[in-house]
This record gives sequence, structure tokens and C-alpha cells, in this order.
Amino acid sequence: MNTNLIVGLGTALDHWHHAQCLANMQPITLADLVPEGARAVIIAPHPDDEVLGTAGLLQQLHAAGHSLLLISITDGTASHPGSTDWPAEQLGELRALESREALRRLGLQWPHVSWLRAGFQDSQVADREHAVATFIEQHLLPGDVVFATWREDGHSDHDAVGRASSRAAKAAGVTLYEVPIWTWHWAHDHDPRVPWNRARKLCLSPHAVARKRYAAHAFTSQLQQDPSTGLGPILPPMVLERLLQPFEVLFVQEEG
Ligand SMILES: [Zn+2]
Repeated sequence: MNTNLIVGLGTALDHWHHAQCLANMQPITLADLVPEGARAVIIAPHPDDEVLGTAGLLQQLHAAGHSLLLISITDGTASHPGSTDWPAEQLGELRALESREALRRLGLQWPHVSWLRAGFQDSQVADREHAVATFIEQHLLPGDVVFATWREDGHSDHDAVGRASSRAAKAAGVTLYEVPIWTWHWAHDHDPRVPWNRARKLCLSPHAVARKRYAAHAFTSQLQQDPSTGLGPILPPMVLERLLQPFEVLFVQEEG
């Protein structure tokens, strides 16, 4: 998508609470998603997407004893352009520390979780899409199950990671699920731009949602105002609340 869909506060949480597309969505279980013994590979465009999109899934995977590989494609250094409070050169390390703390809050412990930081430039993933696909493919093993951002999520990095992950998963012959994150911002109930027929709902326990909320609050840099630029937080309370529903949505791949 070329137009910037991530403007304003977006679709209200209350809209989604009453959305028929969510009420009627087919549920899916962890056992449906990831076969016993298989490794799950989570591909996050920025540090925080792994929590915002799949913190509930991560908890279920860990509890079921699956090994996990998290790939952070960028270090998220472009979240605060022009900021003297959050300069890009500090954000890389800071956001990695935030991710590490968030994973700890989810109860994910090494060595069951491996983590790769791919080091691609934030906001420029589309320019390096082939290299990103190659990088991902190099780290996939037979039988892996890959979870990446949806290729039409409406953020250029998320879209590029979705496309690159799709190419890598196809080349490696492994299953891919795509996760909408910013979609909840710009879409609406029965929005024709969203493949609702391929959407599945992974239900989360209240405990898992509480833990996801706790983990999301590790991303301090994304939750605070920036006095040096006068801009509000990247994830204001309303945006965060929208991502803390008692389920996570995944798109299964089209047949053929
Ligand atoms: Zn992101």
C-alpha cells in the first residue's frame, strides 16, 4: 500500500468489540498452528512487534515446550526522527534492551529462545527485501513454522517483512502465518481490504493478556511523549489497548 494508513488514532477499540468479523472468526489452537516438536520462528520488523502481535502465542509456545527463534529485522532506530531525547544511535541498543525485558516478562528464558538481530535499517526494509528474504531463509530449518507481519499491514517495513518471509518460507518449504498489527488501526469490520476468510483467532487466557500487557509496558521508548519534538507516544494508550484483546489473529496461507 502506498498511502500512509497509520494516521490519527485510528479505529476505536469499541468498534472492534462489536465487529461481526471478529465474533464470527474461526478459532485456531496452538496444536493446529505448530506441530508437536516443531520450532516456531517469529519475525519482527521492529523490537516490540513480537509482543504486540504474538505475545500470547509466544507464551503458549513456551508452555508447550517448543523451541523459539525470534528474528528482529531492524533495531527500530527510526521511531523518533529528529529527537534529541531518543537519538537513533541510542535507540538501537535501547529498543533491544526493551525487547529483552519484554521477553523476560513473558517468562521466556534462554536457551529455549534464540534471538537474532538482523541489523537492517528501520523504515528501509522494502529497499532490501531480497536480502531480508535471503537472511530469513538461511536461518530456517525443515519443519519450522514461521510467523511474520502481514504483507498488507499498512506499514512499509511490516509489508516488506511479510513479503520477504513469504518468499523465504516458500523456498524453505515451511509453513507461514501472517499477523496483522497496524491493520487494527486502519481497517474496520468486514473491511474488503482484509482477507477475513483466511483469518483465524488464537484465544488467550486473562492471565496471558495480563502478561502481554506487562510485557508491552517494557517498551518505554514507545510509550512516552517526546518533549524534544513535541510529539506524543508512538503507542498511545488507545493504540496499545487495541492490541491487548483476549485473542490474536493470524492469516493462514492461500491454498496452492
Ligand atoms: Zn513495527
